[in-house]
Amino acid sequence: MADFRNILLRLCAALLIALGVASAAHAEIPVTTCIAPVAARTAPQFDCGAAQNRFGAGDFAAQLRFSPVQVNPSDPLVLRHSSMWQEAEQITFRYGDGSTAQLGFDSSNARRYMTIGAIFELPVPVRAAPLTGIDIAVNGSANWRGVVIGAHLMTASQSFRLQSWLIALYAAFGGLSLALLTYNLALWSVMRHAFQLSYAAMVSALMAYTFTSSTIAMLVIPTLANNDRVRLNYLFLALAAVASIRFMADFFGPQVFGPRLRRTVIAICIATLTSALAFAVLAPWQGDWLDRIYTATCTAALLMMVPIIYTARRARVRHLGLFIIAWSPPVVVSILRAGYASGAIGYSFWLDNGNLIALSIESLLSTMLIVSRLRELSSERDQARASEQSALRLANSDPLTGLLNRRAFIHYAIGRTEPHRLFLIDIDHFKAINDRIGHDLGDEVLREVSQAIQDCRPEGSLAVRLGGEEFALLVPLRLQRQCPPERLLDAIRQRTMPMNWQVTVSVGFVDGKLISESDWRRLYRLADTALYRAKADGRDRACRATDFGATKAA
Ligand code: GH3
Ligand code: MG
Ligand code: MG
Repeated sequence: MADFRNILLRLCAALLIALGVASAAHAEIPVTTCIAPVAARTAPQFDCGAAQNRFGAGDFAAQLRFSPVQVNPSDPLVLRHSSMWQEAEQITFRYGDGSTAQLGFDSSNARRYMTIGAIFELPVPVRAAPLTGIDIAVNGSANWRGVVIGAHLMTASQSFRLQSWLIALYAAFGGLSLALLTYNLALWSVMRHAFQLSYAAMVSALMAYTFTSSTIAMLVIPTLANNDRVRLNYLFLALAAVASIRFMADFFGPQVFGPRLRRTVIAICIATLTSALAFAVLAPWQGDWLDRIYTATCTAALLMMVPIIYTARRARVRHLGLFIIAWSPPVVVSILRAGYASGAIGYSFWLDNGNLIALSIESLLSTMLIVSRLRELSSERDQARASEQSALRLANSDPLTGLLNRRAFIHYAIGRTEPHRLFLIDIDHFKAINDRIGHDLGDEVLREVSQAIQDCRPEGSLAVRLGGEEFALLVPLRLQRQCPPERLLDAIRQRTMPMNWQVTVSVGFVDGKLISESDWRRLYRLADTALYRAKADGRDRACRATDFGATKAA
């Protein structure tokens, strides 16, 4: 377990390092973004503050300001910025010689300039004169979180490195999720624990969210408009949140999710799904409000972690520490993103891509939780099985000798279709033994005799103390050579008994089938007759029974 935990923690560290390297590859030319709402007949008043969304929805003019930069034809520049809900965008590149170049796209053909991670990347046309400014005309911006966010310039080679890292990260996340999904579903098909299924649902929803939020969806479905991709994003993130809560509920069970917490959680899940669905169907109509309600319900879902952890702590559930470690990264990233959504925190590369790493860590460590829980459940099951078996053993055995008791012997003996040999074994003059050496040592003699019978007994045979000093041994007839009556007699004669008492037994035996209870009664009667004959003939001997009477055998 410790090894497994080490491997997972190292994997998490590797993911963080990968993101760090990706971020280092992201050296950019500093750009200041200023926006102005487009109003008829008035010159635009540019505002360079961070909270662009205070202007509300509409058409905007954006200016990207930076120190003039010479575009190198062998490694030209690219302009990158985040994807926002908008109808269209027209970009004008301005150069030192007064010339300009233009590029544009709308929601339906945005795919052309879309790169991994929902980032637009526009190639800066190469001119002899330096690039001095960029103007962006944005039409129909919903401006829920901003108009032009995260704009920066970098060289094509820097962008290539960054994108390579991001592709590797997304591929790793995709592969990891697929593997986790497959193995959890495979395990579920045999073990059928509800939390395995809800974990699979959570991973699937996270994969779907990654698929749409990373824009891979737009590569796979060319007809998908960028704004429709955003609708799907809202839906899948809500599904992932609900599936995560469901996973926690199934994982911790009713000892944490009592009726009140359950009701609250269900209400929040319904609100989250409804607001996401409303946004997906209605946006951009009332998009501002729907986005706020959605953010509020998602935040409420996130805040449910507090009562869940609190009750889990009080219920002293195991693995809570691991659970907290697993869920901290997505919670921290979600809080930061909620801060970003509300305008309290500015754009950052880490924020934009951090959820991928956070979700990977969460998925990986949750797997560890599942493994721990499965170990716990299987050890509980093993214990229950072991105690059931020991209870059965106690109920079936004779307390003095440990042999089967009469009831268990009859239960296991009847129904055997192959022919068997039934031995009835009775200690000779046991009453006298008791009288001479005492009842306690008499018990010891009973134990020694039963041990001698056990030692002679072939595999697959049954040995029983029928009562008092009378025993029986049932041996499949095909094994009778391993257990001749003389061997039985000898084993008891040679056994060292308490006070070196010479103990002998008399044996009656018979061959036959034991299919029904009447077979058992018949065989028992015949063997008993043979035993009686052995006693009558002088004891310390075995007699074989036939249907015609008992004959002396040994
Ligand atoms: P025979 O050779 O004819 O079988 O003579 P026997 O003395 O062995 O037979 P009998 O049936 O007269 O005596 C059986 C004795 O076994 C009587 C009883 O006190 C004793 N006995 C029965 N159960 C136990 C037990 O659990 N422990 C001890 N120490 N003695 C027992
Ligand atoms: Mg006896
Ligand atoms: Mg007897």
